Amino acid sequence: MTASSLPIVPHWIDGAKHPQSGGRTAPVYDPARGIQTKSVALAGASEIEAAVASAKAAFPAWSGLSLARRQTVLFAFRELLESRKHELAEIITAEHGKVLDDALGEISRGQEVVEFATSLAHHLKGEFSEEVSSGVDVYSIKQPLGVVAIISPFNFPAMVPSWFFPIAIAAGNTVILKPSEKDPSAALWIARLWQEAGLPDGVFTVLNGDKEAVDGLLTHPDVRAVSFVGSTPIARYVYETGTAHGKRVQALGGAKNHMLVLPDADLDLAADSAINAGFGSAGERCMAISVVVAVDPVGDELVARIRDRVAGIRTGDGRRGCDMGPLVTAEHRDKVASYIDVAIADGATVVTDGRRIKPDGEPGGFWLGPTLIDHVPTTSRVYTEEIFGPVLSVVRVPSYEAAMELIDHGAYGNGAAIFTTDGGAARRFQREVQAGMIGINVPIPVPVATFSFGGWKDSLFGDVKAHGPEGVRFFTQVKTVTSRWHDPAQGGINLGFPQN
Ligand code: NAD
Repeated sequence: MTASSLPIVPHWIDGAKHPQSGGRTAPVYDPARGIQTKSVALAGASEIEAAVASAKAAFPAWSGLSLARRQTVLFAFRELLESRKHELAEIITAEHGKVLDDALGEISRGQEVVEFATSLAHHLKGEFSEEVSSGVDVYSIKQPLGVVAIISPFNFPAMVPSWFFPIAIAAGNTVILKPSEKDPSAALWIARLWQEAGLPDGVFTVLNGDKEAVDGLLTHPDVRAVSFVGSTPIARYVYETGTAHGKRVQALGGAKNHMLVLPDADLDLAADSAINAGFGSAGERCMAISVVVAVDPVGDELVARIRDRVAGIRTGDGRRGCDMGPLVTAEHRDKVASYIDVAIADGATVVTDGRRIKPDGEPGGFWLGPTLIDHVPTTSRVYTEEIFGPVLSVVRVPSYEAAMELIDHGAYGNGAAIFTTDGGAARRFQREVQAGMIGINVPIPVPVATFSFGGWKDSLFGDVKAHGPEGVRFFTQVKTVTSRWHDPAQGGINLGFPQN
């Protein structure tokens, strides 16, 4: 099949597939087979305009619907998702490459936010102060913003958009999702599910595209807010451009998460955790552990236990029951693999070289096996840069203080974890460490939906995190009402502020 005869993943505007007027498309691959299976439409000016116009037109009716009726749609969506999530998992595995179990896991984490949003009537409650001045009451109400945009990365095509759209929609906004062009089909499936759940057309739109679509949304006067997740340079750009155009922006960026292992830690637990958090989803997770910081004298024993476990990981096609799938594209695989040569040149010890694996899958797949690198110098690019693949570095340090200095000096502050059996050390870590999400004997501390997700430093631009209470805050604007119902006896002119 030639690329031009492959199916094209369209936009979803006004409750229907929307044809592409211009010719721009991008390839979509099956990473485990290493072949292009589809193309995706890349929006130009007319698609951007159609998407925003449709979302804008749908806003008055949707935001005017009672909370109870909006909730009914949310519940229906949740039930449909629960019963059909296997379909979505297969779509994710076919375009992203992660193993089916892991795809199901990301859907379940997204579903948690849908469940949180079903109780939004509670979270939208305002505040009320009676009699703040004579006969005067003050109260606040939370109202939707209007059209909001979500721009998401390739690594969680279902979970990351789900951090935002359930709350945005439940709060009465209309949403335009711009998914990653690398794995766009999950968004289309979700759009159809919303329609089946009874969401009115135009409330959930999918605009496929690249930088042109992102820029169109960031500068469009009718888009009120933007939730972005992706790499740090693009997150910074999105934050600066969106805010310069008067929008509310939360832009979650990249990460380099450290896992600190103290000498008193349970080393089997630490080794299992390093494996799961380092190589799950082939390391393509913003909360992956990419650096294990071994505090002397724990290094040799810890590395030996991690190495033994790495040998048992089965890399292959995610549909064949393997542990770890391929990387998302050949280009990304080559970039990740190039860090192994950097490590060698910088004097690190490559304990396990993922380039040597024999995958359980087609030879053309975008394979790179789990790679373990010990004695990584902290000046090496292997340590300083986000690799976003199955490469786990080990850095040796003499003390807890030296470990903390490393973490604090890093540019990113998404997550950090400590492994120890000493409650005092864990508590000190929790207080001192400069990162937004902390794990204590938990390697990937992704907060549940009732709390908020987001990092510090270059891992988040803007001051509001995703989902939980901060998600509600992001997708609503507060109106404060001062009200007096006149007692006819209290008239008269007074040019000052009321004081009693
Ligand atoms: P990316 O930055 O390449 O792309 C993210 C989104 O931005 C996509 O929708 C893409 O189409 C768009 N985009 C790409 N280039 C652009 C440009 N020049 N101008 C405007 N928009 C552009 O990220 P990715 O490779 O898809 O995802 C991996 C990155 O996302 C990693 O850095 C990872 O750490 C990060 N991530 C962060 C979190 C978090 O919560 N902090 C979660 C998931 C992923």
